[in-house]
Amino acid sequence: MEVSLVGPGYGECAVAHVGWGEWIVLDSFLTSKREPVALQYFDELGVDPAQAVRLIVATHWHDDHMKGLGDLVSRCPEAYFCCANALGSREFLSVAAALARTGLPDGGVREIHAALSHLDRTDSQPRWATASRRIHRSSTCEVWSLSPDDDAYTSFLKSLAPEPGTGQRPGIDALTPNELSVVLLVRFDGGISCLFGADLERRGWTALLRDDARPRSKASVFKVPHHGSGNAHLQEVWDELLEREPFAIVAPWRRGRGALPKPEDVERILAHTPNAYATADSSAGPAPRSRWVKKRLKNLGARIAPESGSPGMIRLRRSLAGEDSWRVELFGSACHLEEFAA
Ligand SMILES: [Zn+2]
Repeated sequence: MEVSLVGPGYGECAVAHVGWGEWIVLDSFLTSKREPVALQYFDELGVDPAQAVRLIVATHWHDDHMKGLGDLVSRCPEAYFCCANALGSREFLSVAAALARTGLPDGGVREIHAALSHLDRTDSQPRWATASRRIHRSSTCEVWSLSPDDDAYTSFLKSLAPEPGTGQRPGIDALTPNELSVVLLVRFDGGISCLFGADLERRGWTALLRDDARPRSKASVFKVPHHGSGNAHLQEVWDELLEREPFAIVAPWRRGRGALPKPEDVERILAHTPNAYATADSSAGPAPRSRWVKKRLKNLGARIAPESGSPGMIRLRRSLAGEDSWRVELFGSACHLEEFAA
């Protein structure tokens, strides 16, 4: 078994080897060669993604999770594509299609639109993620989506409704996709589980914990939600969904002056487990570039290089039989969370 999290300081992607050469990919960002990072990693491992990838999950459409996703889906024909049920709604599809007609801006919605359009052309059905749904079964594990819950679905559809006075639909920027994040539970036969928290915030976790139909298993690996942010922290998640002192893996987020995790987030995570790692240290990632400078560069016709810093990866491996814990390997700028200084 392998769970790896890659993140250069902006952008994250997780891959999991679930046994017998089968892989799962969650989210995507582009390498400096403009290639989906998962494809580069499979290339390094000598894995053929067209055969090996069985499930691709788009947790939500924020740009830091989606770059290259459309490409990834079209190059992995054996994989099911999974995203939040709300993204299959007539309301969302008409907003995305309207954006596509006007020339969709480079970003997360375009990637989701590209992935869904590809499936449409190849007559494949996406797997719609919702609370407590088994979305995949392989020879060694089950994969469950644990969110989004019905309330998140309903309020998302409401937020897409045209304004009563003007009939205008809200811009996609006005929507908040974190609440629609797909949390994933991978349950291996033999009782080992991994929980991928996407960017789900506190309200969503509260609903998830209340759901009676949720599979009851405690995870030993936790992809910490929302880049370690305090707004995604809920004590009950650690108490009820995780084993004691799990392997907590964090992909930091750094943009402009904003940075996650904050020092208090690092402290909180370390108070829960000594086995905590970040894919990049706090100095990784692009130097902050002001809005004015960006605009100026654009006006000059300059091509702005992809904003990725030095890539970092946390790799956890474990044999399904015989090993009682995960082996940790750190690559690039990945570090123990204690070394992560904000
Ligand atoms: Zn994010």
